Amino acid sequence: MPDRSNPGKAKHIRQIPHVVPSPPHHEGRNVMHAPVLVLNASYEPINICAARRAIVLVLKGVAMTEEENGHYLHAARIAMRVPSVIRLLEYRRIPHQTRALSRKNILLRDRNTCQYCGKSLPSSELTLDHVVPRSRGGLSTWENLVACCHSCNRSKGNQLSSEAGMKLLREPRAFSLHTSRHIMRMLGRSDAKWRKYLFY
Ligand SMILES: [Zn+2]
Repeated sequence: MPDRSNPGKAKHIRQIPHVVPSPPHHEGRNVMHAPVLVLNASYEPINICAARRAIVLVLKGVAMTEEENGHYLHAARIAMRVPSVIRLLEYRRIPHQTRALSRKNILLRDRNTCQYCGKSLPSSELTLDHVVPRSRGGLSTWENLVACCHSCNRSKGNQLSSEAGMKLLREPRAFSLHTSRHIMRMLGRSDAKWRKYLFY
């Protein structure tokens, strides 16, 4: 029913509470609670929300579906695929406080893996390497710090990785703490479709 008292609002939002998952899937209401990865307009992962919320954002025109989770949603006048990944259409500024730069968070971002030799090690056996050494003006930033094993750290010394004949597994980038906490919690049951957005 159109909402006459509030003509500016998208009408289909009102139908969301009556949504039922499609019959071939027997996961009941869980389908609407399935986690959906939310990307900024820039494709940076910024949050995780329930499918129900993601569908509302898509129907409002705030976000678009990037990946689907294979389920259908049938409501009064809607038949749509349930998203697994959505992306905001407008860039949202994420406050810098959410990105605490710390040894712990760098190791978390790099998944406790030496970014030169690829060995996964306990935190106690990893150190932080300045990609551009401090002695050569390198800063302590998300983009210039990587997890590194002691052996690679010794070989690299005060050289650039190119001078030491070493290569980074991937370009280090800022990672939202908020997102990474969520991701760690959800990773076990998340969709394989998330991967390409999470570890870029
Ligand atoms: Zn190493």
